[in-house]
Amino acid sequence: MGCGLIQGTLVAYYFGTADDEVRAATDAHLISCKKCLSAYLEIKRHAEAPADEAPSDALQARLRADIAAIVQPPALARVRRWMAGPVPRYKIASVAAVLVILAALAARESAPQPEPLAGTRLDTARTSDGNAGAY
Ligand SMILES: [Zn+2]
Repeated sequence: MGCGLIQGTLVAYYFGTADDEVRAATDAHLISCKKCLSAYLEIKRHAEAPADEAPSDALQARLRADIAAIVQPPALARVRRWMAGPVPRYKIASVAAVLVILAALAARESAPQPEPLAGTRLDTARTSDGNAGAY
């Protein structure tokens, strides 16, 4: 492989994403070619150098505020986030409320109704089996 081809593969070579054939050819070439070796070392130096500029004080303050808002959001935001969970909880709550109302209505319909006592005369002076049901 010529220098042009080798230098086109140096980034992939550095990050270990070049296939074995390219890797072997690059290894062999870098040993013998000073120009490509210095190009490779330049890529390596650039990739491993720490960032030159630190973020400004204003940017750092904004980043801290954004992180604080994520880590410790205000109560209302926390409730909103909780309600909007993977399955929105307000939907679950409204479906549950409808089910509770329907269950209450169904229970009310099927509950045995007390017999009306209309037309039944109670003789409160007597304690008999006939009056027992009225109490
Ligand atoms: Zn070369």
